[in-house]
Amino acid sequence: MTARLPHEATPDESPIGLEARYGARNYDPLPVVLTRGEGVQLWDDAGRCYLDMMSAYSAVSFGHGHPVLLQALNEQAQRLAITSRAFHTDKLGPFLQRLCRMTGMARALPMNSGAEAVETAIKAARKWGYRIKGVAEGRAQIIVAENNFAGRTTTIVGFSTEAQYRDGFGPFAPGFVQVPFGDAAALEAAITPDTCAVLIEPIQGEAGIVVPPHGYLKAVREACDRHNVLMICDEIQTGLGRTGAMLACDHEGVRPDGLTLGKALGGGLLPVSAFLARDDVMDLFTPGDHGSTFGGNPLAAAVGDAALQLLEREGLAEQARWTGEHLMLRLKAIGHPAIVDLRGKGLLVGVEIDPGFASARSVCVGLMNEGVLTKDTHGTVVRLAPPLVVTLAQLDQAVDALARVLHRLGASRAPA
Ligand SMILES: *Cc1c(COP(=O)(O)O)cnc(C)c1O
Repeated sequence: MTARLPHEATPDESPIGLEARYGARNYDPLPVVLTRGEGVQLWDDAGRCYLDMMSAYSAVSFGHGHPVLLQALNEQAQRLAITSRAFHTDKLGPFLQRLCRMTGMARALPMNSGAEAVETAIKAARKWGYRIKGVAEGRAQIIVAENNFAGRTTTIVGFSTEAQYRDGFGPFAPGFVQVPFGDAAALEAAITPDTCAVLIEPIQGEAGIVVPPHGYLKAVREACDRHNVLMICDEIQTGLGRTGAMLACDHEGVRPDGLTLGKALGGGLLPVSAFLARDDVMDLFTPGDHGSTFGGNPLAAAVGDAALQLLEREGLAEQARWTGEHLMLRLKAIGHPAIVDLRGKGLLVGVEIDPGFASARSVCVGLMNEGVLTKDTHGTVVRLAPPLVVTLAQLDQAVDALARVLHRLGASRAPA
């Protein structure tokens, strides 16, 4: 028998123990082991039931295991799943058509993860800069906002302002300029003849659900038009009904030149993303320029198409608008002094907790013990972003749990 290493003396064969022993430590999950999900509910390995107020960062907008999406997945998986783009399939065209029609964009390029859609947007923007705008080779610049989140590839973390996302991962690709989020004048002032695009989230999700002043997107649109710069919106988290409109840009009646979608596009079953753009931007891609083995596969296309149909047929964007208003009103009514800010639109809501009172993480642990699952973002913000199919009663249940958790944390802090 081979000798055991000291840390294997008492092997912890539990799911959490095995992750700790064999996994990379790039996440710090709450101590719950989920085994089943249905709709807005999740169950752990001890059979306890939770409300999912997180929906995998909007990826599970339709709830867990939606029967219509499961049927689309099962049928297509049995018929034809993966072919690569070396061949046409009967599923891709109709999916792209629906995607373009529902977003008002001309063309779509399917990928898998959100980061890949953003990488595709960056390539399109640069090529447009060189071939159409006339930027000198190698000089194209893209303006991004401070506190952006666009994924974890090396190019993308290179333009992050979050020190930890970059630390140890350089050198980074040049060609990105950061400006404060929500300040259209600062953005316009940063535009130079080498600027090919502006890449922003209409509402910054990972930064803590940061909503810019109304009129910002419109002002960015106008600045981009004045200076012949592409406006590219990253709606991977905010798109597909999350904020109470099909796209968050719709709240200001703004149509971007380029758009990234992901997360909910996969119906909570698969990673499906896309870069969408004007004709003249997308036409710059020629065969061999860009691709992905799995991008646009028939299984992804069938599930994505079913998800889009479901979104439209059930009016989930409209539903998220009014259920989100209800959620916001109920949160305001908690009236606890530890809640220093409430931000959001539709069912993308951030509850900012006074760090002197408690960490957002400890509030999330408290919520977990009350049967409500969510995750903090940026240390001080509790994210509330349930599946769009959430009921008012379920939202009330989550808000009541939050009120109890804040009350209990407050009582435990009070001097004896
Ligand atoms: C999640 C997210 C991404 C990255 O998506 P992945 O699928 O994790 O690569 C990009 N942009 C925004 C705004 C996101 O919220």
